[in-house]
Amino acid sequence: MALAQRVNRIKPSPSTAAAQRVRELKARGLEILDLTVGEPDFDTPDHVKAAAIEAIGRGETKYTPVNGTPQLRAAIADKLARRHGLRYPNDRITVGGGAKQIIFLALAATLNAGDEVIVPAPYWVSYPDMVLANDGTPVVVPCPEADGFKLTPQRLESAITDATRWVILNAPNNPTGAAYTTGELRALADVLLAHPHVMVLTDEIYDEIWYEPGLPSTIAAVEPRLADQVFLTNGVSKSYAMTGWRIGYGVGSAELVGAVNKLQSQISSCPSSISQAAATAALTGDQSFIGDCVAVYRARRDETVKMLTGVPGLTCTAPSGGFYVLVGCAALLGRRTPAGEEIHTDEEFARYLLESQQVAVIHGSAYGAPGYFRVSFATSSSVLTEGCERIARACADLS
Ligand code: PMP
Repeated sequence: MALAQRVNRIKPSPSTAAAQRVRELKARGLEILDLTVGEPDFDTPDHVKAAAIEAIGRGETKYTPVNGTPQLRAAIADKLARRHGLRYPNDRITVGGGAKQIIFLALAATLNAGDEVIVPAPYWVSYPDMVLANDGTPVVVPCPEADGFKLTPQRLESAITDATRWVILNAPNNPTGAAYTTGELRALADVLLAHPHVMVLTDEIYDEIWYEPGLPSTIAAVEPRLADQVFLTNGVSKSYAMTGWRIGYGVGSAELVGAVNKLQSQISSCPSSISQAAATAALTGDQSFIGDCVAVYRARRDETVKMLTGVPGLTCTAPSGGFYVLVGCAALLGRRTPAGEEIHTDEEFARYLLESQQVAVIHGSAYGAPGYFRVSFATSSSVLTEGCERIARACADLS
């Protein structure tokens, strides 16, 4: 069968593929310690579930406006006002089936063949493929650990060309947990003000999962003159343990939001009415769930970092946000497994962990971070402890 070039240009999401591989191995009866998980291991809060059930009871089981219910868009506007002091009218907010879909639609709405999108690395696995699927060219800009894995104004400036349409800023970042300080955002904003043809897509899906004092800001709040250049995306998946409900949102210029709505009207008509009622309850209801989760994540983060930094050959720093640790394993590449096989890459290292110790992690190259692997601590403390012990054993077995 002849498939479209856009399909042949991309690969399936490595994180979804890793989850699938773990499911298959478990189904074969193998006991896998899964440290690949990209979603909270908490259950959706009860009041959110109740809101969905009530919506069904009220008969809210039909199409909603393409861009989401007015109630949900009002809840999103309130959150942005509360959190960042940003005031967006409801018609500059659009709701879709997850932040993933919203980001894809924003790229689909703006990219023509040859348009460039600056993707700072380490990056969330999906950005380059989403750009490719929409005929664009990802321009990956490595951001080394020495820079805190963050894009510097100099690197941004030198990556910009006449063909640049977007730069993607994901903070807190998956997989590094890094976010920009207000000063760093200010410096990036200065570069962007000088290049008004470059739009900024901010992916703030981990914005509430943060371990440092205060919460990270956003570039649109730091520089209001960028308002029409910024498309801010977020959702309820991570903050409220609602990955399966598939609700995300985007906020930006009326023109861009209108274009996203036009695409959505031809793709899905609207996100699920029931999930929208649930997301409204999540955003407007009791917020203590987030703090409770963050306290648990923090303890697991500390435990994971402590265990892994003690392993000769591995390096890691505590992430400031999110629920992943990016672990350096470059010092172990070139060593041999007990079976005598040389490990050349982080991908082979991850496979070795899976095959020798049944611990699943995701190799750093999937995130544009060769020489690293990602450990998720969105899993129970017992799985984490056992997983880290087995990683230590696997490392010690290398010669
Ligand atoms: N952005 C990042 C950085 C993510 O890690 C994820 C989820 N893995 C998403 C977006 C997608 O979130 P959603 O469930 O809202 O589609």
